[in-house]
Amino acid sequence: MKIAVLPGDGIGPEITAQAVRVLQALNLGLEMTTAPVGGAGYDASGDPLPAQTLAVCEASRAILFGSVGGPQYDTLPRASRPEQGLLRLRKHFDLYANLRPALVYPELAHASSLKPELVANLDLLIIRELTSDIYFGQPRGVRTTESGEREGFDTMRYTESEIRRIAITAFETARKRGRKVCSVDKANVLETTQFWRDVVTEVHKDYPDIELSHMYVDNAAMQLVRNPRQFDVMVTGNMFGDILSDEASMLTGSIGMLPSASLNAKGFGLYEPIHGSAPDIAGKGVANPLATILSAAMLLRHSLGLEDPARRIESAVRQVLAQGYRTPDIQEPGCKPVGTVAMGDAVLAALG
Ligand code: NAD
Repeated sequence: MKIAVLPGDGIGPEITAQAVRVLQALNLGLEMTTAPVGGAGYDASGDPLPAQTLAVCEASRAILFGSVGGPQYDTLPRASRPEQGLLRLRKHFDLYANLRPALVYPELAHASSLKPELVANLDLLIIRELTSDIYFGQPRGVRTTESGEREGFDTMRYTESEIRRIAITAFETARKRGRKVCSVDKANVLETTQFWRDVVTEVHKDYPDIELSHMYVDNAAMQLVRNPRQFDVMVTGNMFGDILSDEASMLTGSIGMLPSASLNAKGFGLYEPIHGSAPDIAGKGVANPLATILSAAMLLRHSLGLEDPARRIESAVRQVLAQGYRTPDIQEPGCKPVGTVAMGDAVLAALG
């Protein structure tokens, strides 16, 4: 079981190192190979996704990804910028299903932007379609109309097969959780999303054990801050998912706690924390490694089918929070302040 480990830039190497320690401690026989990506790829070989790194990924079952980017790369031509490494990986492996859990640990409920009683024990999973929609539709651009006025335009489009496969991901995933799927669209205004609703409803016929509801995106944005615990799995298109998943992440309070997965139809996936490379704290040993450690748990579950070790990691994270270990981003009075490595140590100790 080969895993590609791409630490990337900024805090990426610090946090992935802790996730690798946790994976090694589980003794699963994983073969992990580290390779540069993003700014580190550019520094190593002039390319944010070096051919050698892509080869390592191709030979693997999954990618554990840190984060990419940094101010020193901001003036590079677009094709050489660190984020191209990530975008090209998504495209190359056709990673169309983006899974973003928003999980609130009771100990951290106070850190949410909402009242603790609204979010305590929240366990929501947003599944965002990642490779289509208005972000990729053609034609697009800025043109001059016959009357001589300039106009900007984009094209929202979804093919039936694109909607079917993300709907299947949502129903299959819901089966392993609370068996509820809420599909989010704007079917009252947009033809594409009425079609989305129709196809999701058709696919649902194969999943009678899953409860399906539909919600307009404006209402979904409201319900997420009104009563987020009503949701189990939310599935939506690329643009709505982009916005709603960021909204949901704030319900949990800390960006350093949230993992994500991007999967293709074969179960191959790229697993990464939702945060960036945090150049402001890079090298200081204070970054929270838990989002990356939880990403490693998702990797075991979704790409390797190893549910039990995934749960062991997740319950070890719960345990260290209950024991009061806190990196600075989630620090509160009376808790035990730790840095990146000590948080990794605490998770390892909790694994037993
Ligand atoms: P960021 O997520 O890196 O940081 C935002 C804030 O959150 C910072 O104050 C940072 O210190 C803090 N933070 C982030 N992760 C943390 C952690 N694990 N523990 C403690 N604190 C943490 O976002 P940004 O500052 O907007 O972007 C910085 C760089 O990261 C940019 O170059 C951006 O392009 C890149 N970026 C990369 C990804 C990715 O690799 N997927 C995603 C977003 C941003």
